[in-house]
Amino acid sequence: MQKISNYINGQLVEPIGQSYLDNYNPATGNVYSLIPDSDERDVELAYKAAAAAYPAWSLTSAEVKFKIFMKIAELIEQNLEQLAAAESIDNGKPISLARVMDIPRAASNFQFYAQAITQFSSESHQMEQSFLNYTLRQPIGVVGCISPWNLPLYLFTWKIAPALVAGNCVVAKPSEVTPMTAFLLSSICIEAGLPAGVLNIVHGNGPKTGMSIVSHPHIHAISFTGGTRTGAEIARVAAPMFKKLSLELGGKNPNIIFADCDFDEMIATTVRSSFANQGQICLCGSRIFVERNIYDKFKTAFVDKVAKMKVGNPLDESTKMGAIVSQLHFEKVLSYIELAKEEGGKILCGGEAVQMEGDLKNGWYISPTVIEGLSYDCRTNQEEIFGPVVTIMPFDTEEEVLKMANSVMYGLSSSLWTLDLKRAHRMASLIQAGIVWINCWLVRDLRTPFGGIKNSGVGREGGFEALRFFTEPKNVCLKL
Ligand code: NDP
Repeated sequence: MQKISNYINGQLVEPIGQSYLDNYNPATGNVYSLIPDSDERDVELAYKAAAAAYPAWSLTSAEVKFKIFMKIAELIEQNLEQLAAAESIDNGKPISLARVMDIPRAASNFQFYAQAITQFSSESHQMEQSFLNYTLRQPIGVVGCISPWNLPLYLFTWKIAPALVAGNCVVAKPSEVTPMTAFLLSSICIEAGLPAGVLNIVHGNGPKTGMSIVSHPHIHAISFTGGTRTGAEIARVAAPMFKKLSLELGGKNPNIIFADCDFDEMIATTVRSSFANQGQICLCGSRIFVERNIYDKFKTAFVDKVAKMKVGNPLDESTKMGAIVSQLHFEKVLSYIELAKEEGGKILCGGEAVQMEGDLKNGWYISPTVIEGLSYDCRTNQEEIFGPVVTIMPFDTEEEVLKMANSVMYGLSSSLWTLDLKRAHRMASLIQAGIVWINCWLVRDLRTPFGGIKNSGVGREGGFEALRFFTEPKNVCLKL
């Protein structure tokens, strides 16, 4: 069985404790590879390698970093098929999605930050004729990056690319649930000539490996994407150590549909924004609010399309709905469907596990589920489910829908469907979310600030925001 290795000091190495965890293929429910069960000794080794590489890397020119990053991106593109298949097997996502979204975006993350660093600048402030202040933006040192399982390589590279290009050295941990593509990236980094120790990837579980990074006394910044509860635990440990923290957390995103929208475009996009990646994208819209005078029309058209979505083998080219990432998560999503029923919800379609046949019979599959009849403030509509489950609710006025949309503790993203320009801008300014899409969904310009408010996180990724996070500003004041 394939054994994944840690990537420390430019080498693929075994965990010091020689202990491994099982890695499951969610499509079959079978163990198909082994993951290092790393502990604080491996993190310490990774830290030492990063600290030793830091003096030279922090002084490496933008041009040199540009060349290495573009080479990494080129190698990701050359290995697109292998990486897409690996992502699909590890995560259960349709290979067609990994091929057009996850892997190309991982390459773009390196290309984007290779270029961004050449455009990054800092401020100067002159005081009359006598003094000049200028700001140095210096790397932090060794930083930690921890990423989740839903978009494994996409989100892993979204963190490490800005961290590295800003001149830091990195100790990173992908989710133990989906470690494969980060492992494959290790070899790509070696081939691209990334100097030893600049990036170190330590595999293992969150409470042990992840927490060893978070609590390490000399890792001075943590960039984390994952659940809100984990984010709180990380903040509890890291805040008293005065670490810089970027926390990208959970969501319960509203999708608000007015009667004056482009109906066909809205329906097609809403199916995607509800169920892409089995609903396991932090930006999926899980609460759908529909203006009452088109509620029945929406319900008929939406349920008709969703009911036709076939759950299938993630490796089949035609599959649009694959497997749920793990047994634990599968059980969590099903428990929320039960909760919705207890709370009085009516299942309009889906609502159950799908029993597949042959090799897939032990895999974890759930049919896309649409529920109506729930109050906006019940648990089903307040807690993050993070699966192929959406609720639909009618509304009458802007005030009413804003109250319902903003009632959750989260504030990550939102979608608005209307052709009334004034209303679109009015609503966009009042929705409590870090991102508002108007008449579209998941359109990403990598220059824009990305992140949430309330319990969806602290800080922003994207563009120069990430370069600001991964650098310390230092004011220098000179008497002229
Ligand atoms: P988790 O919070 O469970 O895990 C995220 C990462 O943190 C994993 O690498 C995990 O390791 C690690 N981890 C877990 N516990 C600790 C700990 N105590 N200390 C340090 N690290 C730890 O999230 P999921 O992987 O389940 O991802 C789903 C969540 O991520 C959802 O809530 C989703 O909304 C959110 N998310 C947010 C995004 C955003 O941009 N705001 C984007 C994508 C997802 P391991 O898995 O190995 O245990």
